[in-house]
Amino acid sequence: MIGRSPIIRVAVASPLRTYLDYLPPTGYANTAIQPGCRVRVPLGRRETVGIIVSLEERPHVEHAKLRPIIALIDEQPLLPSDITQLAVWAASYYHHPPGEVFAAILPGPLRQGAPAERRLPFHWVLTPNGAAALTEQLGGRAIRQRDVLLALRDHPQGLTPAQLRATLGEVSDPIRRLERRGWIQRRHGQDVSQSEDPVSGATPPDLTADQLTAVSEIHSSVGYCTFLLDGVTGSGKTEIYLQAILDTLAQGKQALVLVPEIGLTPQLMARFRARIDQPLTLYHSGLTEKQRQTAWLDAQSGDARLIVGTRSAVFLPLPNAGLMVVDEEHDPSFKQQDGFRYSARDIAVWRAKSLGIPVILGSATPSLETLQNAITGRYSHLKLSKRATGIAPPKVHLVDMRHVRAQAQLSPTLLTRMREHLSDGGQVLLFQNRRGFAPILRCHACGWIAECERCASPYTVHPDRDQATMVGELRCHHCGKRAPVPTDCPACHDAAPEPIGSGTVRIEDALQQHFPNARIARVDRDATQRKGTLEKLLTEIRAGHYQILIGTQMLAKGHHFPNVNLAAVLDADQGLYSTDFRAGERLGQLIVQVAGRAGRHARQGEVLVQTHHPDHPMLGLLIEQGYGAFARALLGERERAGWPPFTRIALLRAEASQAELPMAFLSWARQEAIRLDSQCLLLGPVPAPMHRRAGRYRAQLLVQADSPGTLHALLTPWIHRIAESKPARQVRWSVDVDPCDTL
Ligand code: ADP
Ligand code: ZN
Ligand code: ZN
Repeated sequence: MIGRSPIIRVAVASPLRTYLDYLPPTGYANTAIQPGCRVRVPLGRRETVGIIVSLEERPHVEHAKLRPIIALIDEQPLLPSDITQLAVWAASYYHHPPGEVFAAILPGPLRQGAPAERRLPFHWVLTPNGAAALTEQLGGRAIRQRDVLLALRDHPQGLTPAQLRATLGEVSDPIRRLERRGWIQRRHGQDVSQSEDPVSGATPPDLTADQLTAVSEIHSSVGYCTFLLDGVTGSGKTEIYLQAILDTLAQGKQALVLVPEIGLTPQLMARFRARIDQPLTLYHSGLTEKQRQTAWLDAQSGDARLIVGTRSAVFLPLPNAGLMVVDEEHDPSFKQQDGFRYSARDIAVWRAKSLGIPVILGSATPSLETLQNAITGRYSHLKLSKRATGIAPPKVHLVDMRHVRAQAQLSPTLLTRMREHLSDGGQVLLFQNRRGFAPILRCHACGWIAECERCASPYTVHPDRDQATMVGELRCHHCGKRAPVPTDCPACHDAAPEPIGSGTVRIEDALQQHFPNARIARVDRDATQRKGTLEKLLTEIRAGHYQILIGTQMLAKGHHFPNVNLAAVLDADQGLYSTDFRAGERLGQLIVQVAGRAGRHARQGEVLVQTHHPDHPMLGLLIEQGYGAFARALLGERERAGWPPFTRIALLRAEASQAELPMAFLSWARQEAIRLDSQCLLLGPVPAPMHRRAGRYRAQLLVQADSPGTLHALLTPWIHRIAESKPARQVRWSVDVDPCDTL
């Protein structure tokens, strides 16, 4: 049999959990067939696209059953071999269908088999010679050329041919002449600089001693190393990324920076642009499919040197990789929460290791997993303990909310401090992790609560769409269902139900009454739905258009608002008694991140944390000794309770519209796991903490193991069995390895 055509193993775009084997297409030279090339293949009666993962001698199935590939799409591998290997590894680690893993790696058109062509968008920009020529007199016949030069002088970021045409008419001839004279040149890359943030100090600052140590450790590392850059907010972590990136670019290598959300990082971008004299390539879900494809191919060709992207950018091919950075590494958005549930942070570390390059995980509030790796010495721990500007860290106070009459979460203490800070000309930032008007609508007479029956959860009260009335409609935050607000209690008909508790809208409303002269900015998902509104709002906040800022998570992440001197967490209690094992960690991170917004610029900030549990030992520890001590105490708790990072866990989730099916399926799965005689602990099945969602009943089974090896020794055969079983067909099920939460 040896010597005949190879067997082609393909990851096929489908939910299948195996690779499929094919024969070469008739008429192709075997040498043209390489792993990483896309192919068109038959699948049942239809035709689909797949990627060759390997060439084999022996097929999985009988040779006689093999069908030939229909066509080879790529002559040269689209995916370099390290990305193919990464995808194969990720499919096995996350126990996810390989075809879907490959699909997550490729931008849409390429996934569907589009040719791997780049049409490079570019801008014309003035060269130094061109700028010099402008001061000379250009002769009469060159008047059109002069117009182009003037237009480009006024737009240092450059203008596309279309933009030039729009203002000057047909100018292709003068452009050609100017290019030949070397007075203008093309600059490739996406147009990412709509909002030009003026940046103070495009010249690098003198590094602090801590920064110098960190930079030199990164600089002198050889090959793979994971650095935890553990620095309080404002300690100059971004400066260290910049130095490491510049270092990488100077060696002619590529640097990839992962951020939680592009829209929330305009300042990071502005600083990169101000200091790095190279085009910046963005890769995130806000781009059009075409832009994504271009960016992807730019990365794959090596032309894109500096790439900033969100989660999925971790899979970009980098032929010349030199550095990876994960900013705000603790952020839960690095973990995909549905479908292919990967952690971009963990994959970044895996990739850096296999590429033999450094990776920097930066945070003021590192995740407990990362911190533990630093403690055991697997990661190199770089600490920046002081703010780079020398301003003292903010003073944090707990506000005891017991027996306090607070309208819309605004305690008298908070209002007093707000008045003082506002009259001093500072901005005030308030954090409340609930959007809408109120989280609950309740009947005062009988206790009835308006619930979404599809989710068995209270509806949130929202103002009506043009905000003419504050109590406009009910919305379910889990399934999106909307309902009118009843005027009369449907249970007792004795009273009109009332909104209980406060979302950002209600707080904004109350603030306006307390501070009629202040301008208030609300930053949450409802207020920033339209594209561009968030960026605009953030710019206006920095420019000082608003005195009071009220918002959700969106407002707490990474921003640099120079004028905020007072920040407050309006209700810290939401995270104190949650059943989720990560709730404590999240609460600590949130408080520290909110606190980090205060007093970044001129003077020491003040932070108020409102709670009904001022004696809670963990809160006290966080506030008196800081995140490091708090996190170590949490690690102690995790170790005693056997939670990650001291164990490894996976969740098997199931849902169905019939109430008993998920539990029945999971009980069956549990029996199967026991039969496989594993060393893992099986906890459950139990109804999920949110046991109903969008009309479906949900349950889960937790698998806990003392090591990744033990965990995967069970998962591999078990998930395989489940996927092929009958009970699995009656429910929607999924497996979540290293889940971000157990909710
Ligand atoms: P982080 O990313 O840790 O929050 P940044 O890098 O944003 O911190 O730095 C916070 C502020 O301090 C920024 O305004 C930055 O320009 C400034 N900064 C950073 N390093 C220095 C330094 N060595 N000397 C003076 N200012 C610095
Ligand atoms: Zn009632
Ligand atoms: Zn619902």
